[in-house]
Amino acid sequence: MNSWPTTYLPPLDARFNVPPLLIEAARGSGLLSQSNGEKFDMYVCGITPYDATHLGHAATYLTFDLINRYMRIRGCEVNFVENITDIDDPLLERAKRDNVDWKDLAASQIALYEADMTALHILPPKDFVPVTEVMPLVESAISQLVARGFTYTIENDLYFDCSSFITDLPISYEQALSIFAERGGDPERLGKRDALDPVLWIAHREGEPKWNSVHGAGRPGWHIECSVIALRYLLGESFLKQDRTKEFLITLQGGGSDLIFPHHFMSGALSEALTGISFAEHFVHTGMVGLDGEKMSKSKGNLVFVSKLLEEGREAVAIRHALLTSHYASDRMWSDEILKKSEASIDLIRKALAKDGVAGTHSLISEIILALADDLDTPRALQSIETWALGNHNGDETTGEIARALDLLLGLAL
Ligand code: ZN
Repeated sequence: MNSWPTTYLPPLDARFNVPPLLIEAARGSGLLSQSNGEKFDMYVCGITPYDATHLGHAATYLTFDLINRYMRIRGCEVNFVENITDIDDPLLERAKRDNVDWKDLAASQIALYEADMTALHILPPKDFVPVTEVMPLVESAISQLVARGFTYTIENDLYFDCSSFITDLPISYEQALSIFAERGGDPERLGKRDALDPVLWIAHREGEPKWNSVHGAGRPGWHIECSVIALRYLLGESFLKQDRTKEFLITLQGGGSDLIFPHHFMSGALSEALTGISFAEHFVHTGMVGLDGEKMSKSKGNLVFVSKLLEEGREAVAIRHALLTSHYASDRMWSDEILKKSEASIDLIRKALAKDGVAGTHSLISEIILALADDLDTPRALQSIETWALGNHNGDETTGEIARALDLLLGLAL
């Protein structure tokens, strides 16, 4: 599927030092030190297209957009792939509830998501891949897992035996069990070898879409979808035949913190089961967004959608600024006050940029770069901009370089 349109990235003057990017929350060293000409493979888990794009989604994709921009500025060849989970239980349940065709629901939500990403100035992935376009690949990957002895069957449903990976759980087994049940898993199903084993191929059920395969008619489970898309689109067609001397398959897998378990754990385990190599060198997770002191969730019905805010006439650049006022890794609250403050900040920055001559250009841009390098500290970067804009910086420098840097580094196109 085509991604949304890309945008022009203004250049950064060579006199600026761009240090390696420290991501403290990432597993591993957390230091993304790739630079000039080196490859940077980034896989970000995309939406299930039934309720795009709420502010939690926007905050997540904005974080990986900052990493994408930063690693490009370091001269990396960023290979960014994002999937669309266009076949999964929540999509089918919503389509049934609303009495609409699941394909129509998915198409409408994907279109809305692409429009929101374009408005928010988020650089598109190189490949934006719906699961329904890769069914033959999923089928052959599952065959490989069967051949390697990683699977078993319960009443025609095929399961992944995750026992070889369970010692690496990122949380305690008890926590994993309760989260697994909350997020669509079936820990209590009779016949499972381990309660945490995820389903790989779901035999066809009445009223659900199906694909014919050597594993019977049915549809794939969630985690194998991401393993296959990440490996195929980041590593190429022969992804099952990897050079065993490699330490990791890809550089970074990202998503919201609600994906740490089971989704990222299981998609990593499946990738390793397929290739014999650890999946991602770094896993980066973003915090959750709440509303007015409450958790934002579909069950509470309090999701705030980007498209609704845009319809109300709120500016996309102000929404982006407002999301950047919190640190990516922390859970945060959204409120209309936050957006209003960002609207005032954008107004202030625009006034400063409209001046004929300014001073402090070089130090401001350096401060923004250093704040980003230090665990994407966007609140600090925005504070530096605000301080500069409030100051009386009459000088003989032009504002063009600052405007270009705000666009390049933070995606704030003013
Ligand atoms: Zn995923």
